[in-house]
Amino acid sequence: AKNEGRCTYRFFEAAMGVQVTARRMIEHELRQALARQGLFLVYQPQTRVDSGETVGFEALVRWRNEAGEDVPPSLFIPIAEESGTILPIGEWVLRTACREAAGWSQPLGIAVNVSPVQIHNAGFARVVHEILLETGLTPQRLELEITETALIRDLNRALATLRQLKALGVRIAMDDFGTGYSSLSNLRAFPFDKIKIDGSFIKAVDSNDQAATIVRAVLGLGKGLGLPVLAEGVETPGELRFLNAEMCTEAQGYLLGRPARIEQFRHLTEGEARR
Ligand code: C2E
Ligand code: CA
Ligand code: CA
Ligand code: CA
Repeated sequence: AKNEGRCTYRFFEAAMGVQVTARRMIEHELRQALARQGLFLVYQPQTRVDSGETVGFEALVRWRNEAGEDVPPSLFIPIAEESGTILPIGEWVLRTACREAAGWSQPLGIAVNVSPVQIHNAGFARVVHEILLETGLTPQRLELEITETALIRDLNRALATLRQLKALGVRIAMDDFGTGYSSLSNLRAFPFDKIKIDGSFIKAVDSNDQAATIVRAVLGLGKGLGLPVLAEGVETPGELRFLNAEMCTEAQGYLLGRPARIEQFRHLTEGEARR
């Protein structure tokens, strides 16, 4: 039967991680998906906490495989990183998101996730430059989200790349802040424009004293460094109230909008141009 050779990698997916053969199958299917337009982007609003205004979107990649199953990025991104397929995928994500955003009538921000593998690939800044020229997107609207793991492999190289990106006018956000192991020194050493507090710290921030203490500390850090702070994973009105009271700059999460196809946000991207 036609389906017999089809990937049944779900069976291999263990708590320990995905087995080698399954990884190869996923990698193979992923390459095909990239070639055959099987990947798409969803967008999640980024909202100002004080005014409730949507100021931008984070682009998130999605993959629906041949069997019609949605494969989560947490499963396929690590495999793509290990095999190098993240390079063409990452470039596709960047180009697609920039092209989409360049067509909006409002100059909203567009945040794109960048893998450590991309950061360490020579010529990444040139790729970004080419995509900006090709799509006509104003560089200041593009924000690249980078996690700390992107920095640690080769600090000097990462710093050089980040400086090249900054020279293009692109902004850089530290993603998943607090989950790495040297967040503080990295904040000082690298030219970040925004801190994104990981959603795990936002969970129950309004009812859990320890979570609240940590989030307050990060907000104080942002204030001291003059960096806006975005809280990720905001799911409840109580969490948002806390962030508002603590003067957090921006928020993102299911409460404010789930990631969705851009068509769902036409009221924001096709409104009258702002002055
Ligand atoms: P991330 O960059 O930290 O993205 C935020 C993740 O949290 C997304 O998961 C998003 O759907 C989810 N999320 C948003 N709001 C909430 C909320 O209120 N509650 C909860 N529980 N979750 C929320 P997603 O899309 O599954 O992506 C997971 C990770 O995969 C991302 O984490 C990012 O590290 C990676 N990823 C996604 N798209 C890309 C991409 O285009 N390139 C690269 N390199 N990585 C990507
Ligand atoms: Ca992100
Ligand atoms: Ca994040
Ligand atoms: Ca994450």
